[in-house]
Amino acid sequence: MYIVFLGAPGAGKGTQAATVAEKLNLAHIASGDMFREAQKQETELAKQAKVYMEKGMLVPDDITIQMVLERIAAPDCERGVIFDGFPRTLEQAKALDEALGKQGKMIDSVVYIKVAEAELLERLSGRWICRQCQTPYHMVNSPPQTPGKCDRCGGELYQRPDDTPETVKERLKVYFAETAPLIDHYAQAGKLLEVGGEGGVDEVRERILASLEKETVK
Ligand code: ADP
Ligand code: ZN
Repeated sequence: MYIVFLGAPGAGKGTQAATVAEKLNLAHIASGDMFREAQKQETELAKQAKVYMEKGMLVPDDITIQMVLERIAAPDCERGVIFDGFPRTLEQAKALDEALGKQGKMIDSVVYIKVAEAELLERLSGRWICRQCQTPYHMVNSPPQTPGKCDRCGGELYQRPDDTPETVKERLKVYFAETAPLIDHYAQAGKLLEVGGEGGVDEVRERILASLEKETVK
């Protein structure tokens, strides 16, 4: 099963993709996490990506596509993948279709997590993330049990440098211009599953699992 999670920054893609992937035993490929991981290792890829990420812009397609396509060649992707944050442009979507097609595979479903813009801004501005396992927290809506510490792994929480108000605005702008058109693209392909992203994390997860289940039964 190859599933794409689509949604604005702050829609909850990362949180949901991680737990749903675990539950369905699929690999979880998060392009943003891969770029941040590369930053830690100070690779050439990281240097190229950094300038764009800091500004809230998209990393150029050629760099991003190459990174993700290399990743899906790994053995843990054989059973299937949940893509989180990729594709983000039509160009990326086409490259992914083509790469999967060559292996006789395809995207089965696209889960579009829909959240109102005001709510997105609110969520992103209070967001803190675990340095070790990437679990996100919100200072007001879902604070950790111990301040500054991850409930799951005890890791240190930090605020992403691109979660500042200015950069958040830019990321949302880029999302509406470049990524939102993918909603139509996948709807036309008959693959879009729209899920309301407001409410508790568990509630949203149940909605996602229910709509995926309905889809596979069909
Ligand atoms: P969010 O969805 O919250 O904005 P991500 O962690 O998915 O965060 O992405 C952070 C940044 O990484 C993006 O703003 C962008 O610069 C870069 N990035 C991640 N995925 C892609 C992609 N598929 N194409 C281009 N840039 C990407
Ligand atoms: Zn953690």
